[in-house]
Amino acid sequence: MLSQKMHERPLVYLDSAATAQKPACVIDAVNDFYTIHYGTVHRAVYQLASYATESYQQVREKARTFIGARSANEVIFTRGTTESINMIAYSYGKAFIRPGDEILITEMEHHSNIVPWQIACEDRGASLKVVPVLDNGELDLAAFRSLLSEKTKLVAVTHVSNTLGTVNPIQAIVADAHEVGAHVLVDGAQAVPHSPVNVAELDCDFYAFSVHKAFGPTGIGVLYGKEDLLNQLPPYQGGGDMIDKVAFEKTTYQDAPLRFEAGTPMIAEVIGLGAAIDYLNEIGMENIQQWEHQLLVYAEEQLREIDALRVIGQSKNKGAIISFLVEGVHHLDLGTFLDLQGVAVRTGHHCTQPLMKRFGTTGTTRASFALYNNREDVDRFVSALKTVIQKLHAY
Ligand code: PMP
Repeated sequence: MLSQKMHERPLVYLDSAATAQKPACVIDAVNDFYTIHYGTVHRAVYQLASYATESYQQVREKARTFIGARSANEVIFTRGTTESINMIAYSYGKAFIRPGDEILITEMEHHSNIVPWQIACEDRGASLKVVPVLDNGELDLAAFRSLLSEKTKLVAVTHVSNTLGTVNPIQAIVADAHEVGAHVLVDGAQAVPHSPVNVAELDCDFYAFSVHKAFGPTGIGVLYGKEDLLNQLPPYQGGGDMIDKVAFEKTTYQDAPLRFEAGTPMIAEVIGLGAAIDYLNEIGMENIQQWEHQLLVYAEEQLREIDALRVIGQSKNKGAIISFLVEGVHHLDLGTFLDLQGVAVRTGHHCTQPLMKRFGTTGTTRASFALYNNREDVDRFVSALKTVIQKLHAY
């Protein structure tokens, strides 16, 4: 993938915040599973099925260690961050949210951490409150504290903003929320692929991420939830695997995680997740974090040379995501012309329309980095950007 050319130029892939490219070990693991080992999980007694079941369960344990959960029962396989959040919005909403309650989100949330809560509020007669973002892209923590009250049932907040790169102080947010008796769901889609994450240390109640952004397959995500809390929630979907006993009079359910995994799961994708975790562990999440931070600093330094460019999101604690505006140039034109130079960046609202409104724009250009990027990528990107801006300004 990364050594090919686009428009006859070396590809510079700077859209890992949208989705990450896959290492060969992940592709091989999925391929081997389908080629040699394929079988279903849970039900059958033959060798292929027991191998698949064992491998599937091993990945649950691997994922548990990877995010620092206390028990493998706290690790639910979902389709992704979006499904994880919808699942909690529905099940938690049904169990805990009553008319007059409040759900607190922030202005920097991805649509997938806004819309499910709007639906839940509508269903449950609750209201949605929004923590504002400061000019530098950090959360207004004073406003957060003043919005918290006994009415707050749940706080849903992103760990790292996919648009601004802001790393939010989750531990402090969780501590404040718990003080008023609220639970906390963290959207970890942009954190897990780029830094060590330990859910027990964060003490959050739910944590969601997508595997495709963490160098694994599409169509799979992980939802962490505290075990006692998960077991108080009703199922999100009914079907095979999630039941204890089925009778027409009454059906009883399994405990977590199976309660939330109705139907034949994404077995090959889970195997791919296992390979992705091994890959990340081998490199080391601290090393990845440091490497990407160096790239961020280097890229921001270079970008300062471009007068017409303004970076949106300059928080002190920031992941390797750079959103920017260029005076007199539409982001869509910028993205299209950068592509002709071999540079793949994202343009538009990044599924954060309210945040775009906050910064008075309809979209930005976003360059996002991952472990496989290097200084050469930054140099190529900046040089392509200068060429493109010069061309577009000349029109
Ligand atoms: N939250 C954040 C912060 C994201 O960046 C994304 C993906 N852009 C999502 C949620 C949704 O992830 P998915 O589409 O994989 O469910």
